[in-house]
Amino acid sequence: MSSTESEPEEAITKEEITQQVSAPPPPPGKMGSSSQTATATKPRNAFTELMKPKPHPPPPDSKHSHPSTASKLTRAFKDRDGLGAYLADPKAFPSSRVIYHNEGFVAIHDLYPKASVHTLLLPRSTKHNRLHPFDAFEDIEFLATVRVETDRLKNLVAKELKRRFGSGSRKEIEREQALATAGEDSDETQLPPGRDWLAEVKVGIHLHPSMSHLHVHVFSRDMHSPCLKHRKHYNSFNTPFLVDLADFPIPKDDPRRHPRLGYLDRDLVCWRCGKNFTNKFKALKEHLEKEFEEWKTE
Ligand code: AMP
Repeated sequence: MSSTESEPEEAITKEEITQQVSAPPPPPGKMGSSSQTATATKPRNAFTELMKPKPHPPPPDSKHSHPSTASKLTRAFKDRDGLGAYLADPKAFPSSRVIYHNEGFVAIHDLYPKASVHTLLLPRSTKHNRLHPFDAFEDIEFLATVRVETDRLKNLVAKELKRRFGSGSRKEIEREQALATAGEDSDETQLPPGRDWLAEVKVGIHLHPSMSHLHVHVFSRDMHSPCLKHRKHYNSFNTPFLVDLADFPIPKDDPRRHPRLGYLDRDLVCWRCGKNFTNKFKALKEHLEKEFEEWKTE
């Protein structure tokens, strides 16, 4: 794929491919200083917390990142090859972009997030990472490593949701109150479990990816983002265009292997209440704002 034109069956726009649309500011407080936290403990950044027990290689933060190298890389890896920049030198990027990296993977924040937390997992294996996901995940051993790492990132996204929205969540408040009443000797089995944040995280791969390097989307299902601007943005994450990682390897006779299934042109259906907005994107966007406010308080 070398064209910068976006095809009808692609989830992103030409402006996103060529980075001609401005990206939103990095996640609030670099994922770390929000006062919205469910517990009385100091608010912490779930992503940087993960890095703590792993002193080698050093966590990618502003102390270790190299802004000039990062911008050179961004210029060198253009358009559909843009994700290659993070694979080439993840250390060059700040933690507001690269969440973590290890021998096998680089985890990043999506540049144009379509949900309140939207990350991408990029496998580093050069044997696999320029293949179409259908082909790359025919390799069962490789698929198994991607599943393990995706679970790790999924847990981080869930922790980040709790950090951002926990203080307003009814289930978290119930738990906090029960904990406060029971005191330090509280019996965990008797306490309300709190909110299942993992259930709010989706993991999948677009049937027809736009970016050349293999990537797994790991994101919160709220669809709350200023970057969500088109029907195809929404439908690419809320129709079978998004293939759950659990579905791989995809059987040879699976209809999803047919590239032109029209998933992106489907009616717009609210992920939360199921209301059909047909092709009225603006109405869906307004509705999603209300759903988001309610979803946060669950
Ligand atoms: P897709 O290829 O359809 O799975 O989507 C590619 C994803 O990559 C989209 O969610 C884009 O917002 C995201 N994206 C595009 N360019 C970049 C970039 N340079 N850095 C980070 N994310 C990007």
